This record gives sequence, C-alpha cells and structure tokens, in this order.
Amino acid sequence: MNEIRIFSPATVANVACGFDVLGFCLDHIGDEMVVRKTDKKGVVITKIEGFDLPFEVGKNVAGVSALALIADANPDCGFEIEIYKKIKPGSGIGSSAASAAGCVFAINELLERPYNKMQLTYFAIKGEAIASKCEHADNLAPAIFGGFTLVKSVNPLEILQIPTPHDLFATIIHPQIEIKTSEARAILPKEIPLQLAITQWANMGSLVHGLHSNDYGLISKSLHDVVIEPYRSQLIPYFKEVKMAALNAGALGCGISGSGPSIFSLSKGIKDASNVEVAMNNVYRKTNIKFDTYVCKINTKGIKILNK
Ligand code: ADP
Repeated sequence: MNEIRIFSPATVANVACGFDVLGFCLDHIGDEMVVRKTDKKGVVITKIEGFDLPFEVGKNVAGVSALALIADANPDCGFEIEIYKKIKPGSGIGSSAASAAGCVFAINELLERPYNKMQLTYFAIKGEAIASKCEHADNLAPAIFGGFTLVKSVNPLEILQIPTPHDLFATIIHPQIEIKTSEARAILPKEIPLQLAITQWANMGSLVHGLHSNDYGLISKSLHDVVIEPYRSQLIPYFKEVKMAALNAGALGCGISGSGPSIFSLSKGIKDASNVEVAMNNVYRKTNIKFDTYVCKINTKGIKILNK
C-alpha cells in the first residue's frame, strides 16, 4: 500500500468534571487526510485545504508528529501529507489533535502497523505540544482509541478506554469567537478549596461508573464541573443561557468543550440531542455572533480508513 485516505475526528476534551483527563470522540465531524509514501526520505506537507495553516513541517502538528514516528521507525521511504481541514483551528474540538493523530495513524498503516494505539498517541503528543505548548493527550486519546478515554498519566503514558453507552449523542455549538489559550489558562485558580475538590472527584468517579453501567441518570447527575467552568465560562458569551436552554431541552449535561469557545451537551437519544440543538440555536441566533451547531453519535472507533 502506497497511499491512504483517512477521516480524523473532532473530539471533546475536559468533559465537565474530567478536566484534563476525560475526552470523547465525535462522529462525522472531522478532517480528511491523504498520506502517501515517497522514495525521498523525510516528510513534506503538499496540500492544506480549508484553513490557513503552516506548510513548514516543524510548525505543523501533523509534520512534527510524523517526524517523531519516523525518528523511531526509520523507514526506507518518506511521506507526503495532504490535509483537508474541516475543524476550525482554535474551536475547542481538537483541530490540531485531529491532524497529529491522523498523520501518525496513516503512516502506521502504510508501514503495516508496527505500532499500537498507545505508541501512536505518544508520537502524536510530540506534535500536539507545538500547538498547546505542553504535552497532553486529552484530545488525541479519544481520536485514536475512539469512544470515551481517560488519560490517567502522560508520563508514563497511560490511557484507559471507558465504555460508551449506546444511546449517547453529543450536541455541539461553536460560537465563532476567539479565546486565547493563554487567557483560558491564566484565568484558572492555582489552588482550589478542598470541598470543591471532593465534589469534583465524586462527580468524576460517578460519571465513569455511569458510563460503565449505562446509567444515564447517574451520568446526568455527574456531569458537573465546579472547578473550571465557573472561571472559563466567563470567556464564552451566553454560556449560562445556552447551558440552561440545553438542560431544559432534555440534555443530560452541558459544559465547555476543551478550553472553549465550543460548548457540548450529552443527551440520551438523537431526538433529545436534536431538541438541544434547536434550544442552543435559539439562544445564539438572537445575538450577532456567528455560530455552527452539530449533532452526532459518539464515535467508538476513532480514526477511520476511507480508502487505501
Ligand atoms: P482547539 O483544540 O481549541 O480546536 P487546537 O488544538 O486546534 O485548538 O490548536 C490550534 C493551534 O494549533 C493553532 O494555533 C494552529 O495554528 C496550530 N496548528 C498547527 N498545525 C495545525 C494543524 N495541522 N491543524 C490545526 N491546528 C494546527
């Protein structure tokens, strides 16, 4: 096989009480990438469509991830990468992670799978680090493994796959505003009161239990973030109104996706998820902020091969 086309999905990280550890993978929202072998060793990015991103290999997360894998594998060929970007960079649904994860996944396939998913995540982290200035895997893990993932530790890398209840659907609203990652970080407290920490880890434990036991009621009761959301939600206009509308429309829970500005909701069944989309729409269409909304099932497979 000399060429592969893949779909690399968008992902939601920082799932409510699971700040920095819990993420999930979205279905049908994502980028496409084509990667082909070349006789000349090394990596080149030959095409980027959709958004303006660096072609320079060392400045594009796809290029840096590919170089990390190649440094280890030392293949006797090189690779050409085409990126068809649908996920807007900085939207909060893992745009850079889709490129980093997609690229190492595709190269691994072309090399006939010398690496497992954990190792691929390790290479992709090297690319993600240039976008976020730190090594983290909370969008990469769900893109590569699919479903819900928990990053137990980055060093050493430990990722747990959490089961996805069959009827769980996500609704996303992406307001077209820019939130600087530095600002989203700077606004967070350095220390948190013990009582809030206890509430947060109780919710996190019960959310994971709810996902394991298909207990939608427990999932709903656990999807709360008392640590991060009170700060970061201030950066997203109409966050409170959107959340209230989503919950009133039947969402199990609602929170900030990544570091925003996207907001996610989880619902049981497509009907509730679609009602939540209408409710979110109704809040934002009264404003002059442009926005997109999406409804999709949780993608339990992660990156998909479109053709070889
Ligand atoms: P979010 O998770 O909020 O969508 P990202 O993780 O997509 O944000 O980070 C976007 C940043 O990463 C931008 O500064 C962008 O220029 C940079 N970047 C570098 N390479 C890529 C790529 N291939 N795809 C997306 N963003 C990239």
